[in-house]
Order: sequence, then structure tokens, then C-alpha cells
Amino acid sequence: MAESVRVRFAPSPTGYLHVGGARSALFNYLFARRHNGTFILRIEDTDQTRFVEGALQEIYESLKWLGLQWDEGPQADGGCGPYIQSQRLHIYKEYSEKLLGSGHAYRCFCTPERITQLRAEQEKAKQPSGYDKKCRNLSDDEIAAHLASGTPFVVRLKIPSGRKVVFTDKIRGAIEYSSDVLDDLVLIKSDGYPTYHMANVVDDHLMNITHVLRGDEWIASTPRHVLLYEAFGWTPPEFAHLPIILSPDGGKLSKRKGAASVMDFKRGGFLPEALFNFLALLGWSPGDEREKMSLKELIDAFSLEKVSPKSAVFDEQKLEWMNGVYLAGKNSDALLDDCKDLWAERKIDVSGFSDDYLLSVITLMKVRSRRLTDIVDNSFYFFADPLSYDEKAAAKQFTSDAAFVLGVINDALAGTGSFTASEIETLFKTLAESRGVSTGKLIHPARLSISGVSAGPGLYEIMELIGKDSVIRRIENAITHIRSKESK
Ligand code: GLU
Repeated sequence: MAESVRVRFAPSPTGYLHVGGARSALFNYLFARRHNGTFILRIEDTDQTRFVEGALQEIYESLKWLGLQWDEGPQADGGCGPYIQSQRLHIYKEYSEKLLGSGHAYRCFCTPERITQLRAEQEKAKQPSGYDKKCRNLSDDEIAAHLASGTPFVVRLKIPSGRKVVFTDKIRGAIEYSSDVLDDLVLIKSDGYPTYHMANVVDDHLMNITHVLRGDEWIASTPRHVLLYEAFGWTPPEFAHLPIILSPDGGKLSKRKGAASVMDFKRGGFLPEALFNFLALLGWSPGDEREKMSLKELIDAFSLEKVSPKSAVFDEQKLEWMNGVYLAGKNSDALLDDCKDLWAERKIDVSGFSDDYLLSVITLMKVRSRRLTDIVDNSFYFFADPLSYDEKAAAKQFTSDAAFVLGVINDALAGTGSFTASEIETLFKTLAESRGVSTGKLIHPARLSISGVSAGPGLYEIMELIGKDSVIRRIENAITHIRSKESK
């Protein structure tokens, strides 16, 4: 690529950053990195009616958490700022005046009531809706009179009639529209604010954007943008419209099915690098079997040629699987602070335990967890004796025979010196052999006594970590529990 690549992610602060937006940001980021280009963040906030308080902060936070730090944008001036459109109103005004001057745009003084009525009539007559171009050919005198009387107006682009508007989408190939289906679109609203189309095109040009990578819901806007570039006499950037993301049942993503915000995924116990990797595969693939890919591998392999035009499926189970893979491979130290926060959130008091102890818990749990939240939700017995026992497991394991076996285990444990996993293992094996039973007969009731549940990390590792006194006390408690049930 000859000129240096400049791409932008251009969210509107109308809500949280969801999966679709994050995927667009991420593809822009990967494309920029792949070509040693620049990744720009631009905030498109000119539709004041749709502005949501706090959305902007959440967009910044979400992008940063995912590792999508922008090279240029708010708080990172690169000479093309400001990067927040509401701070650029004078620029749009200046450029709309250029179009008025060159005759490519005109002032439309029609009242909103007239436009509404027009639409209603068109609907009734089953005609395509659109502006009837009434103000397109007003005389200079008419215009001057309206302006003198202060009639509010919008600025509209003169869409040429009978034209084929063709552009090449880097993912879908050549796309053709007839200009006759396009309305004379509004560029500047009566409140002086630009429309999305105007601000988007002016900024993409002034910010030297070389490639526009955005969701395919914007594809119908592109022919309008092409005509706007033409009216200005500018060369349009390259376009690539990313495939829609659907839920596994083929429907639209809903809040319940994947359309949660990036921050919801954080709260749900996902790691940013896992979500990053997963999002990268929504519509793109490296062309081989690889799924777990490091950032560097993703950057090296990313290309628009490998983005599929077919819809992508948001499979949350796959995301969970991928998160589990990342979790298992992650250094426990790096998980400590997040786990501490989650324990605190769940009112599990870990304050009496050293960081070393907490790290050992994380190390044991992370390899069998899919989310960070699994680590904290399933580790309560490392911090307190179980208050109850899993009912199903207890019905099976807590027999009178087991009470006897647990007593034998406890006697043997009391006599041990150092309490290491390997020593405990030898002890269990010896006991099982001497009693002519499988070690499972000892392990299952012991696990239930110690943890209250029937699944978890290796029993001997749990025992070593919890320590001899706690283990013996827990087994005693279980024996008492079994005996009390029996006597009822
Ligand atoms: N502001 C638009 C959005 O909210 C940007 C569309 C585009 O990238 O051109 O997605």
C-alpha cells in the first residue's frame, strides 16, 4: 500500500459499546497495525437527541480495556483534531457553504409539517418516499426573501438524476446504485448541526482516512457518500463493510444473546485478550485452522481479503471455551487483583489469607474455569468450612460405611508429618490397598467432607493448601453429620 493507512472507528455516544461496535473497532485496529498505519477514534455526536449521558466515558473505557488504544483521537491529538464532531461545527458550516457556492447543494425552506404531509401522501399513493425537490430551483430572489424573513432552512445535496453510482467494496466487490433511488439528502439540519452523512464525509476527508471499515448496516449510506465526495471534488476512501453478527439461532443479537456491552463481558469474568481473539474471528479467519491467536499473530495474518461477506455467528459457548484457554494460560499474579475484587463483590471474605494462599487457590482453579467468576464462585471452601453438602453427592457418598472410612482416614492423617499433596496421595493409596478398595472409595467422601461439593481441583492439592488441622476438622464434621442423619 503506497500511502500510509489511516483508519478510524467513529462511534456515536448513543449507548454502551456492544459486540458489533467493538468488532468494527478491532478490525480497524488490526488493519492499521498490519500496515503500520494510524488508528483514529472519532466521536460522532452531532445527533444531540440521541446523546446518552456517560456513554462517551464507557466507550473510552471499553476500548482501553480491550487493548484498542487509539493513536489519534480524544486525548491523543495528531494534528487533525478536534476529534469530537460537536466541536467541529464551524468546519461543517464552512464546507456546506462551499457546496452552496458551487451549486451542488441548496437551501430547503420547507417546513417539517410539509415534509410530514408529503411523506403521508406518498405512503397513501404507495409511492417511494422522499423529498420532492421543491426548493431545488428557487430563484435568487425567493431565497433572499426567505433569508431576510428568517425562515429556518436545511441544506440539501443535489443528487444528480439518472446516474449509476458505483463503488467497490473490498469485501463484497462492485456495488451499484441508481441515483434515482436516492433522496436529496440533508447535509445541515435547521439547528445548524450537520447530519451524520455530512460530518462523516467531511471528517473522513479532512482526517485523511484511507479506508472506511464499518458495519454493513452503513452500506446504503455509501452511494450518498460517494456523491458527496464527488460534489466536493474529493477522492473517496476505500470502503469495506463488515458482515452482520447474528445470534446462533440466526436472529439479531439481543442483550440476552450476545449484544451485551463490552463492560458486561468484563463483569461476567471474561479476559480482554480472550474477547479480543474471539471478536477477531467474527467474520474473519486466518485461512487455516488456528483459533487461539496472539495479538501479534492476529496482526500478521489480518487482511480484508479474508473477511467473509457472510454473516458471522456470535457463539457465546465458543467465547467461554476461548476464555477458559486464556485463563488456564495466564499467570496467576495477573489475575489476583480482579479475583480480589470479585471475591469482595460476592462478600467472600479473603482478608485473613495471604496473597500466596490466594495465588495458590487461583492456580488450582483457573485451569478448570471458563470465566474469572467461576474461580471465585467455586472456591468458597478454601476460605471457610462447608456449611452444607451437595445433596445428590451426599445421598450417594455419605453412607455409614463412608463414616467409618472417613474415621480411618482421619486417624491416618493425624499421624502424618509434613502435609504435602504427594504424601497425602501415598497415604490414600496405602489405605485403599490395605482395605482392598479403590482409592475412589476414599477420595469421593473425603472430597465432599472437605469441600461440600463433588468436583474441583485435585483433592490432595486442596488438602495440602487448606492444611492439616482444617482438613481433620472438616472430616470430623462430616462424620458427625452422617451419624446424625443415621440416627434420625
Ligand atoms: N457514527 C456511526 C456509528 O455510530 C459511524 C458509521 C461509520 O463508521 O461511518 O456507527
